[in-house]
Amino acid sequence: MHTMQTTNVSPHVKNLPASSTLAVSAKAKELKAQGVDVVGFGTGEPDFDTPQHIIDSLVSAVNDGHTRYSASPGSIECREVIARKLRDENSLPVEAKDVVVTVGGKQAIYLTMQCLIEPGRGDEVLMVAPAWVSVPAIVEVCGGTAKWVSGTIDTDWKISPEQLDAAITPKTIAVMINSPSNPCGTAYSPSELQALAEVVARHDHVTLISDEIYEKLMYPELVPDAVHFSVGSMPELADRTITINGLSKGWAMTGWRIGYLATPAGGGEFAAAAGKLHSQMLSSIPAFCMPPIIEALEQGAPAVEGMRQTFARRGALMYEKLSGIEGIRCAKPAGAFYCFPELSGCFGRTTPGGVKIEDAIGFCGALLEEANVAVVPGTDFGPTAQDCCRLSFAASEEDIERGCDRLGAFVGSLR
Ligand code: PLP
Repeated sequence: MHTMQTTNVSPHVKNLPASSTLAVSAKAKELKAQGVDVVGFGTGEPDFDTPQHIIDSLVSAVNDGHTRYSASPGSIECREVIARKLRDENSLPVEAKDVVVTVGGKQAIYLTMQCLIEPGRGDEVLMVAPAWVSVPAIVEVCGGTAKWVSGTIDTDWKISPEQLDAAITPKTIAVMINSPSNPCGTAYSPSELQALAEVVARHDHVTLISDEIYEKLMYPELVPDAVHFSVGSMPELADRTITINGLSKGWAMTGWRIGYLATPAGGGEFAAAAGKLHSQMLSSIPAFCMPPIIEALEQGAPAVEGMRQTFARRGALMYEKLSGIEGIRCAKPAGAFYCFPELSGCFGRTTPGGVKIEDAIGFCGALLEEANVAVVPGTDFGPTAQDCCRLSFAASEEDIERGCDRLGAFVGSLR
């Protein structure tokens, strides 16, 4: 019998890097299974349940017969509601035909990259970094090369317009920006985003991709200029910006897998191309998810705001706790649900268990083993993120207290 050899896997998939975060989460699971009380700050999703009225709308949709194939880019009602939201809340000049409803924000990024990158042409996509680990992997699998332009903790993880200008080359086909940021938890102010967008506007071979998945989770009570701004609302860039968004983070709907892309580029040509690819790949998201999208966008604001306020309190608490630990440094969270402390003050030191900490992976491994706190090393988030780790404050205040106390005691015990 002929069996498929692993050598038959195409090199571009075989060579795809495995995420360095997996080792830590596998170990955390193993410890939990052994009954160890692990405090988990690793997860990138809200710990809330989806609001009940959205769940009810899914049940009604199934009962009402939304059980057959649906329009591939999303039902027209659904795309109209998304387009209206983007016009009213984000000042984006889009209509229903400019929207494709996707399987999570991740598939919206994947479709976008597939539509922009031509394999073999030397296309480069510039990550405004630190950046979410999946994006460079998606770029590579689409046949492009991911390049980085990075902020540091000293600039609150932000890049300057001059840095962006210097990083764009004739091969740069797109710039990817994600504000508020995973992993940094920081956000560009509207004027900072405008200044970066103006740089892109001067390079007319470059498309701007704006990942706004954390739009609803911003904390002006912690950082006053943390106000959302959609760069695609700038007239000079409107038809060169692809906006990525979805319901996963703001509405606590990660498991539903609902995202979308929107762009008026080419008078609807780009969205039509993305829609064509989407129809060949997946046909559509499940038909019964269309009414819940409308429900979430039209009726979900009070629940979303309630969750945002809770995250703001948790972010303030985690920041306060981390700021009190000597040997690590942390930027104040302005959005998303992450703190991203810099750990280099701990490198070269030894844990009570006898482990010499050389880097962020070593730090996270020893923290988990010896203090039972799970965090994610910054290693895969870009060049300036190597010495950091990511903590999610999608966790209870009690866990934030306990986990940060353990982290503080662990750092204090290093010799
Ligand atoms: N963009 C960023 C920055 C993210 O952190 C994530 C999820 O972690 C996504 C996009 C994708 O979200 P989804 O779960 O909707 O695919």
